[in-house]
Amino acid sequence: MYTQRGHARRTRTASSPDAFGEFQASALFCERCRAAQPVRERRLLFLADGELWEYLCVVCGASLGTRRTTPGGAGGGGVGA
Ligand SMILES: [Zn+2]
Repeated sequence: MYTQRGHARRTRTASSPDAFGEFQASALFCERCRAAQPVRERRLLFLADGELWEYLCVVCGASLGTRRTTPGGAGGGGVGA
């Protein structure tokens, strides 16, 4: 059973950059189209510590990559030493 979170997140136009520094792709290079295409996100998985999203080319539907989001805690603490 999924625990749906209360926030329905809409894809808003990326005109206002978030201060979070969270990378949000609006266009990626599609090998099938041989051009940079706008992408849309599709949620693949709910993880224990976040969600896994997939980027799909809006033109041909090819998968262009994935992204993992972490709820709340961006930045992480101990990377490297
Ligand atoms: Zn494409």
